[in-house]
Amino acid sequence: MQHESVIIAGAGPIGLACAISAKRRGIDPVVIDAGATKLISTHDVETRFGREPISWDKLVLATGYFDSPNRLGVPGEDLPHVHHYFDEAHRSYGQDVVVIGGKNSAVEAALQLFRAGARTTIVYRGKTWPKSVKYWLRPDLENRIKAGEIQARLASQVIEITPREVVVRGWLGNSERIPADRVYALIGFHPDLQLFERIGIAFDPESGRPEIDPDTLETSVPGVFVAGSVTAGDKISEIFIENGRFDGEKIFGTPAERVQAKDKYQGIRRETGE
Ligand SMILES: Cc1cc2nc3c(=O)[nH]c(=O)nc-3n(C[C@H](O)[C@H](O)[C@H](O)COP(=O)(O)OP(=O)(O)OC[C@H]3O[C@@H](n4cnc5c(N)ncnc54)[C@H](O)[C@@H]3O)c2cc1C
Repeated sequence: MQHESVIIAGAGPIGLACAISAKRRGIDPVVIDAGATKLISTHDVETRFGREPISWDKLVLATGYFDSPNRLGVPGEDLPHVHHYFDEAHRSYGQDVVVIGGKNSAVEAALQLFRAGARTTIVYRGKTWPKSVKYWLRPDLENRIKAGEIQARLASQVIEITPREVVVRGWLGNSERIPADRVYALIGFHPDLQLFERIGIAFDPESGRPEIDPDTLETSVPGVFVAGSVTAGDKISEIFIENGRFDGEKIFGTPAERVQAKDKYQGIRRETGE
């Protein structure tokens, strides 16, 4: 790859918003995405043809978190019928399906699976559904549970997954084997901290939050910036599309434009809890 003034890694909504911010200022950024070209370090990318060197004046990481799903860390998690991403509800018609998780992704998946004709059980470690469950999903879920159409196990911890069952431990210590032809473990995501390490970006190991200049979003590595959800580390619900889309203005804008972007960001806060 030839020398580029700006490379943006990540073509999610925030990477694209950053590209628009750059373009508005007469800069031609190159946007790469792991689907075809994955940033490995500050000086190379991986493509289907192998490693290629890169060089740049500004490198923006808008790499999000969807590539790194959280894991349960229990035996059987890597069995072929266990999925960390939700795909197509109709494949589960007539099957026993267990959804693990209690936030929006898990709740939405459980509702879709039920409607597609799956015998659905949702297992969540919390005692109640989190506040962040969207207001239109919560009553739907609660009513399906009341009607016995979806089974729910709250305050329950998955301890093992076998080819036919999910073994859970309830809050009284009792264990139960729930039949499962298919399992969706939808328990969130985290940013790729190994990428931060390879690049040398300083970050808080507890929260995964990179150390940044809050005005410009520049990291501890000069010329390397972060944008979008990756700026919030493990707090993946803190930055979403509606507030992260101003990050490009902070990276490419003038000091006055950065202040405007900050004000807009402050005005948009909500809990998504995906
Ligand atoms: C079910 C669900 C519903 C949601 N609903 C809403 C909503 O209504 N409103 C809202 O604002 N937000 C919503 N969100 C959150 C929103 O999807 C995220 O906040 C948003 O996608 C984050 O954008 P991003 O560009 O920072 O990262 P991402 O969307 O994760 O994009 C990052 C991109 O970077 C690529 N990438 C990763 N690593 C590399 C690498 N090393 N090199 C190159 N490319 C790389 C990835 O392949 C990906 O394409 C929802 C999320 C979920 C799961």
